[in-house]
Amino acid sequence: MTDTTPSAGTSASTSDRVPSTAAPDAIVVGAGPGGLAVAASLRHRGVRTLVVERSGAVGASWRGHYDRLRLHTTRRLSALPGLGIPRAYGRWVARDDVVRYLEQYAEFHDLDIATGIAVERIEPAADPAAGWVLPATGGRLLTARSVVVATGYNHTPHLPDWPGRDTFAGELLHASRYRNGRPYEGRDVLVVGVGNTGAEIAVDLAESGAARVRLAVRTPPHIMRRSTAGWPAQRTGIMVRRLPTRLVDAIAPSVERVFVPDLSAYGLPRPVGGLYSRVREGSIPVQDVGIVAAVRSGKVEPVAAVEGLAGHEVLLADGTRITPDAVIAATGYRRGLEPLVGHLGVLDERGRPLTHGRRTPENATGLYFTGFTNPISGMFREMAMDARRIAKAVAARR
Ligand SMILES: Cc1cc2nc3c(=O)[nH]c(=O)nc-3n(C[C@H](O)[C@H](O)[C@H](O)COP(=O)(O)OP(=O)(O)OC[C@H]3O[C@@H](n4cnc5c(N)ncnc54)[C@H](O)[C@@H]3O)c2cc1C
Repeated sequence: MTDTTPSAGTSASTSDRVPSTAAPDAIVVGAGPGGLAVAASLRHRGVRTLVVERSGAVGASWRGHYDRLRLHTTRRLSALPGLGIPRAYGRWVARDDVVRYLEQYAEFHDLDIATGIAVERIEPAADPAAGWVLPATGGRLLTARSVVVATGYNHTPHLPDWPGRDTFAGELLHASRYRNGRPYEGRDVLVVGVGNTGAEIAVDLAESGAARVRLAVRTPPHIMRRSTAGWPAQRTGIMVRRLPTRLVDAIAPSVERVFVPDLSAYGLPRPVGGLYSRVREGSIPVQDVGIVAAVRSGKVEPVAAVEGLAGHEVLLADGTRITPDAVIAATGYRRGLEPLVGHLGVLDERGRPLTHGRRTPENATGLYFTGFTNPISGMFREMAMDARRIAKAVAARR
């Protein structure tokens, strides 16, 4: 597929599109970047494909992210197959431009997308040659020989089951509901969790006039500069991706010491586990988009992990009790795949697919997964590569 770059500024909604594919060869579940990339690659290979999306438009996850979010992977290294991200969107593409790009992408590839339909379950068809049956909202029964699950790594917001959570008298919300700092002006806020989302929300709150911002840290994160002298961290991620974990773990601390100041005096010690070992467990390093400066200036105060909630109080692991006005839990997501495919024996003990990309589970031929790994080299890039491989495998099955 030849890559092209559209001009910025055009936008198209797919919510009013009527799918023209009566009997598709392949169904893609989810119209995020992962699903759209696969659908475009399948279409390029002449596979009749229907994308089924539960929300009203493409890119639902990106529409729901907080206002200041930008891709921390570069524009060029985040492009999906067949269409570049417009240069006008800049190197670090803003949330709204990501959405606009996904709209342009669906239109450019003329994808068949049925919006407002949630797939409820994926079942093997009675006749194995028919592939799969997908009960969906409204009593629909969709069928296709191949199915690609692209429902998202960040599918279901996860709020820890802290003791006292249900009777907590303060404001408690998951980071997926945070949009910007305006509602928190002049207020005392605790952000829980120091992944990329927690770190950035804490900075956003501090810059938006919150009276006090504390950041509860259970495991000190690895922190990387997003770019150094024009060299993006993502490129380093791509270079080290195939190196042995132990080697990358051994090199990383010296690099971190050079580029990231020691924040121990401010309550954020250097991380203990190896950088790449932690990536393999699903924990991506935090890209510094302001957290280092905010911690050093005291605008964001690291505190111990949250142990429980009681009335208006938050109990921390070091025995401290604090009474913030609001608690924002940046405590991650779950894959939420169990209702869809849990009965097929295709998930591991953490609810992740046993296979991804072109490989399908032995007992579930024709069932593909994309977007369920969290590589150090960037997910958009990974999904773009998986899309081409999946399309090739699906086309070969016909
Ligand atoms: C805050 C944040 C920042 C990120 N920044 C980057 C970055 O800079 N670079 C990068 O490479 N990656 C980034 N990622 C990771 C990843 O690229 C994105 O999460 C990306 O949106 C994943 O694409 P996806 O298509 O797999 O899932 P999603 O974008 O989540 O799309 C899944 C789609 O499936 C739909 N769906 C779900 N269940 C069903 C169902 N049962 N039936 C029908 N439809 C369904 C959803 O409505 C949704 O539209 C970021 C993630 C987050 C959370």
